[in-house]
Amino acid sequence: MAGNLQFSWALSGPGWVTYRITDGASEHETYFGYCTDALADLLYAMTGLYGDSSCERFSFDREPMETRWLLRRQGADVAIDVFEFPDGAVSWGSPDETGGTLLWRSTQPRGVLCHAVKEAAEAVLLEHGEDGYLEKWMLHPFPMAALQDLRRLHRRNDDCRHEQCLT
Ligand SMILES: [Zn+2]
Repeated sequence: MAGNLQFSWALSGPGWVTYRITDGASEHETYFGYCTDALADLLYAMTGLYGDSSCERFSFDREPMETRWLLRRQGADVAIDVFEFPDGAVSWGSPDETGGTLLWRSTQPRGVLCHAVKEAAEAVLLEHGEDGYLEKWMLHPFPMAALQDLRRLHRRNDDCRHEQCLT
């Protein structure tokens, strides 16, 4: 279902994040720790959707599991598949989803997906600030450059009608 996409990214404790995504038909929620620069990986995958690549992959480390997002461009839309692999030590970095369990799937217009992710990152920044973010995520600062890239690409390319994207 397009138009009902909601995404949130909540720093739930020191070194922990919980994200939740729903498209109005089904939802997926998971949590993991700070060993990767997870928010930056998410934002940079979104910016990748504005380039030439037709496919983006990135992963969250749920030790020992790997949760992997596979994004495939289909014209103006993006097919999102979220997989879980039982042993990230084996699966991490593999360009192949064999052996993964599909947790969630949706197809959304790129502008809708990227707006939702941008908004979630902005909400994190508003709530915690850069200092507060670093205090909670410890090993990685807030990915300001990635957020700025995504904002710019989304505004320029997606014809988004949200007020804050029109300026
Ligand atoms: Zn927007």
